[in-house]
Amino acid sequence: MAARIEKAALRKNPTVEVEAALYDKNDHGPVICPDRRCGCDVQGVGPGTRTIHKEDGTTEQLPIAPYFRLPKNAVKLLLGHAAQCRFNIDATVTRLVAYSREVRKFDKDCEPMLARRDTGLVEYRIHILMDVLNVLGQEMRNNASAKRKKPEDPLVATRYQRIRRALRPYLRTVRAVNSLIARVNGDSSLADLVRLCFGSHTIAWRDFFYDIDDHGRLYNYLKEKGQFRRSFGADHDWPVAFAIQVQFVRAPAENQYREWEIACVGRLCQIAPGVKVFINPVIKTNDEKLARLLTPGNFFLVCTIPTITGIKEQTKQVSEPGKPKKRRYPRAWVRLYIDHRAQICAYTPHSDSQ
Ligand SMILES: [Zn+2]
Repeated sequence: MAARIEKAALRKNPTVEVEAALYDKNDHGPVICPDRRCGCDVQGVGPGTRTIHKEDGTTEQLPIAPYFRLPKNAVKLLLGHAAQCRFNIDATVTRLVAYSREVRKFDKDCEPMLARRDTGLVEYRIHILMDVLNVLGQEMRNNASAKRKKPEDPLVATRYQRIRRALRPYLRTVRAVNSLIARVNGDSSLADLVRLCFGSHTIAWRDFFYDIDDHGRLYNYLKEKGQFRRSFGADHDWPVAFAIQVQFVRAPAENQYREWEIACVGRLCQIAPGVKVFINPVIKTNDEKLARLLTPGNFFLVCTIPTITGIKEQTKQVSEPGKPKKRRYPRAWVRLYIDHRAQICAYTPHSDSQ
């Protein structure tokens, strides 16, 4: 699995670290993992690009920064990261399983979000995440609501959180799992370690993770699930992890929702044969601090229960003097509701060649 490492240590002098962007093999020589408990061999991956599809139908090369990773087959040859190394994915998953059990301190009946099964696979119980998000969302809207209703008891998830304090370890687990997914760039081999459970179903990795250019695939998935509205407390809202790039942040309008809107970079997608639609992700949150964290230009991995709008034809033509009229494609929106910081983490896209 391609866990990305930003800085490596020099083999000839492990106290010296070099950043991937400044690494010169001839000059620095071989490099090793910077974790002191580890020190396995790593190698530099030079700068790359990734092709992304833009609104006007053209493509653009997104530059990708260099980084370090394990040489090919290192894990098979038992030359991977040490068991205690922070870049060791298997060990990280095992640590997270132990960590997620902490909810039991609050209530012995609380279900941990992660659990290792007899098969050796770890279950990530996404229905619990969904319940937690519903509770948080409810509270946020109650707080933001001009009417200021008294916060209600959580209506859902009583099986999982009998008391409010248990939310915190749940959210820390969510955050840690998201960071792990981001660190391996959504690499599908994570599915060999972690099974995504949703109630009694399994969610395929491909149905859960969407990379920076997967807008159309996500739209089609949510359409197939009929996810046009967020239906609180229902058991059929499907969560996803989606890598987005922030475009701009808009303060809330004085309406009943008081939501911050964070526009993300959209993509022109072919969602059916001959049907091209510009798909626009937009993050919505009632939390100003959280909105301010989402700095324009940066990539984030967002884990949430999204909804989609129908497709709207764009009637107005864009015209600039002296230039031919540009065609405006029909548009649809993917709305990503964020109720807690644990749902977002920084993301670094990988290059096409990976
Ligand atoms: Zn290591």
